[in-house]
Amino acid sequence: MLPAPLTMSDVSAPMIEIFSSIQGEGMLVGLRQVFLRFHGCNLRCLYCDTVTPEAPLQCQMEGTPGRRDFIAVANPVPLSRLTTLFAGWQRGWPGIHHSISLTGGEPLLLHELLREWLPLLKTYLPIYLETNGVLHAELASVIADLQHIGMDIKLPSTSGCTDLWAHHRQFLAIAAQKKVFVKAVINAATEDWEIIKAAEIVAAVDKDIPLILQPVTGRTGTIDLSPIKMLELQEVACRYLNEVRVIPQTHKLMGQL
Ligand code: SF4
Repeated sequence: MLPAPLTMSDVSAPMIEIFSSIQGEGMLVGLRQVFLRFHGCNLRCLYCDTVTPEAPLQCQMEGTPGRRDFIAVANPVPLSRLTTLFAGWQRGWPGIHHSISLTGGEPLLLHELLREWLPLLKTYLPIYLETNGVLHAELASVIADLQHIGMDIKLPSTSGCTDLWAHHRQFLAIAAQKKVFVKAVINAATEDWEIIKAAEIVAAVDKDIPLILQPVTGRTGTIDLSPIKMLELQEVACRYLNEVRVIPQTHKLMGQL
């Protein structure tokens, strides 16, 4: 006899936190979103402040959107519980959220689970995927249910990751089916050749895809990159692309999560 198919009440995910806040990065900056921060990542960026080897025993889940009344929920968290939470938020606070941000960690590590869940989740709000831009096969399996994609191109100078260029190229070719932008984290050590390589990858798909240069931003909003260097790196990228923006992590400036 075949095993019974999984239902959403059976499926759980390792989560770090769930909350409502203002998007601080990228092209959706300033919009109010529901954030689902998944545990686990396939990369180890030097500047990462999120990834731990083991999932926390408990996930922090906000009860009221934006009021920081967190409760601890044991990991892994049943997705049916999250669906119930969103349904309540949508009923109680209609219209305040623009979209749901799937963030991490790397959400695409959970692509099998997302493929089952996203068709239901997108009935509440549009889905925005924040991703490190590497797992292209996994993206292809869930892209039909996404509306926005913000993907990284990891520069060696800031991330410490090398040799991801081909993966980013393949990823962007698929992501371009949807509203996509590319983000590259920069600092004082970032060199022109890295910006050129990233810009060439984007331009090969579409010169109109926005590239965000994001200066490394400290916890209190400090930026260790001179204004002149920012302008110089932007000028390099503008030789290849039509839309290059410099945007720090603004949620830190605003005291948002
Ligand atoms: S991709 Fe993101 S979550 Fe993963 S190690 Fe890098 S900064 Fe951390």
